[in-house]
Amino acid sequence: MSLLEGRTGDWEIVIGLEVHAQVTSKSKLFSGASTEFGAEPNSQVSLVDVAMPGMLPVINAHAVEQAVRTGLGLNAQINLVSIFDRKNYFYPDLPQGYQISQFLDPVVGKGEIEIDLADGTSRTIGITRLHLEQDAGKSIHDQDPRKTLIDLNRSGVALMEIVSEPDMRSAEEAGAYVTKIRSIVRYLGTCDGNMQEGSMRADVNVSVRKPGGELGTRSEVKNVNSIRFIREAIEYEARRQIEIIEDGGTVDQETRLFDPDRGETRSMRSKEESHDYRYFPDPDLLPLELEQSWVDAIRESLPELPDQKKHRFISDYGLSVDDAAQLIAERETAAYFEAVAEGRDPKIAANWVTGELFGALNRTDTDLSASSVSADMLGNLVDLIADGTLSNRLAKEVFEIMFDSGDDPEKIVEEKGMKQVTDTGAIEAAVDDAIAAGAAQVEQYKGGNEKVLGWFVGQVMKSTQGKANPQVVNEILRKKLDG
Ligand code: ADP
Ligand code: MG
Repeated sequence: MSLLEGRTGDWEIVIGLEVHAQVTSKSKLFSGASTEFGAEPNSQVSLVDVAMPGMLPVINAHAVEQAVRTGLGLNAQINLVSIFDRKNYFYPDLPQGYQISQFLDPVVGKGEIEIDLADGTSRTIGITRLHLEQDAGKSIHDQDPRKTLIDLNRSGVALMEIVSEPDMRSAEEAGAYVTKIRSIVRYLGTCDGNMQEGSMRADVNVSVRKPGGELGTRSEVKNVNSIRFIREAIEYEARRQIEIIEDGGTVDQETRLFDPDRGETRSMRSKEESHDYRYFPDPDLLPLELEQSWVDAIRESLPELPDQKKHRFISDYGLSVDDAAQLIAERETAAYFEAVAEGRDPKIAANWVTGELFGALNRTDTDLSASSVSADMLGNLVDLIADGTLSNRLAKEVFEIMFDSGDDPEKIVEEKGMKQVTDTGAIEAAVDDAIAAGAAQVEQYKGGNEKVLGWFVGQVMKSTQGKANPQVVNEILRKKLDG
C-alpha cells in the first residue's frame, strides 16, 4: 500500500472512478442519427436528439448488446430487467431538459477486474455497476466573444458509465485501472477507448483517511480525459485534502475541474445529491427485458479477454506479471508476441518485444501496426542469436538497422558482415595479442584478481569489432592464462 506522509503522520488515498465509455455503434442510443467523429457541428442531429415535441425514443438494440458484452467482459452480473430513468437538469446543451439514464436498476451489476502494477503484483478492483445513458451536446465558449455556441452532434450518443468501488489506493492504481478497462473494451470492440477524441473519460472521486479509518469526504473531479491527467488530478487532490484536514478544516463534498496547464483542480460547484435530479422511470420507454439465452449467446462469442490472456502467458510461457501485462494491453501486441514466440524461447521473445521493439516504437512515436519490423523478422533475429550467428550485442545493432530500413536480419548480417566470429583460430590470435599487450594485467590475474579478465575480453572485442563470440573468448582466455 502506498501512503502519503503528512505533518500528522501517514495518509491513505481512496479512489473510485466513474468511466464514461462511448459505445461503438453507428447510430445513437435512441435515434438513427450518425455518431461519426469529426463531422460539421449540428450535422448529425435527428428530431429526437433536439427533443422536438412529440418525438419518441426508440432503443438501439446494438447498443444494448454492446453494454451486455462489456458487462460480461467485466465479469459482472447481467440484469435481465433494467429500467431507463430521466435524470432532470437544465443545461443549454441538453434540449430535453433531462438525460435518459439508468439509476436504481442498471443493465449490469457487480463485477470485478484485475489491475497490474509496476512492481509485478496484481490487485482485484470491484465494479459497482455499468449503466447505459445518453450523452449531452457540447457548449462551445471560445468561438464567439459574446455567445456560447451549441453543437448537438453528441446529443443522444450512447455511453456506458462504468462505476468502480472505492477500491483504489494510489494514482498508479487508478491509471492501471483505466488502462485495463480500455484494454477490455477494445478487445470486445464495444468502445474504441480513444481518450483524445473523448470516447473515454473519467470522473475521479478522491478522499483521504488515516490508514484503516472511516472513509473521508470525497471530491469529484469531472471529465478527465487522459490517464496522465487522472494521475495528476489524484496527486493534487490528495495533497490538497490532507492540507485542509491537517490545518483543522473539513473537506467539502464538491465537484471540481482539472486544469491540465497548471496541474491543479478547481472548485466548480457543490456536489449535487441524487434527489436533486428528480429521477423517475421514463414513461416513453418500457423496462428493458433480456432473454437469458441471448445473454448466454453473447458470452459464448466473447474473445479471450486481457486478464485471461495474461494468466495464460504467465502459466504457458513462464512470463513475469509485468511482461505479460505489457504484452496483453493491446490485442495486436499479444498476437505479435505469440507469433515471435512460436517455436522459440518465449522469455527471449518477450524481452525483444518489450525491450528493443517497444523502445524503438516509443522513441519514434510509431504504432505497432506501422512498424517496419514484422513478427517474422523479429523471430528470424531471435533465431540468429539461438544458432550462434549473432551475439546479443550484435543482434541489437542488427535490430536498429532492421527497424530503420525494414530489411530482413539475414540480409543485414550478410551485407554488413556482422556475423559473430566463433572461429577459434581468429579469436585465439586476438587473445594472444591482448595477452602480449597486457603484461601488467597478466601479473594481476596471476595474483588472484579475477576481475581483470574483463579487461582482456574488452581488448579482444575491440580488435574484433565486437564480433567475437564472448563465450569462446572467455574459454580461450582462461585456458591461456591458467595454462
Ligand atoms: P455520483 O454519481 O453521485 O458521483 P456514484 O455512486 O455514481 O455517485 O459514484 C460514486 C463514485 O465515487 C464511485 O466510483 C465510488 O467508488 C466513489 N466513492 C464513493 N465514496 C468515496 C470516497 N469516500 N472516497 C473516494 N471515492 C468514493
Ligand atoms: Mg459521480
